[in-house]
Amino acid sequence: MKDTLLPQPFPCTECQAGVMRPRYLTYFTWLNDELITVPNFPAWVCDVCGRREYDQRAISWLTMLLNPNTGRPTDSRQRPRPSTQKQDTPPSAPK
Ligand SMILES: [Zn+2]
Repeated sequence: MKDTLLPQPFPCTECQAGVMRPRYLTYFTWLNDELITVPNFPAWVCDVCGRREYDQRAISWLTMLLNPNTGRPTDSRQRPRPSTQKQDTPPSAPK
């Protein structure tokens, strides 16, 4: 039984002859003025011309991790709640 979650190789869009195969590379990106390196980042490398493409889903996942504020406001599951509740008021005990 094969792992169906494993990405399938697809034809290279650059040379049309090679096949893009899954590889793990080090991904570089800039966060403001800081250079971020992500080792073992999923990518695709052509076995003929060497063209490399980083996995788009992994990139968007990484972008979400680095920039939590860029998420769309429609998805409220990951949004932190503002702590506006007053904690300094003692609860009124019923008599
Ligand atoms: Zn190629």
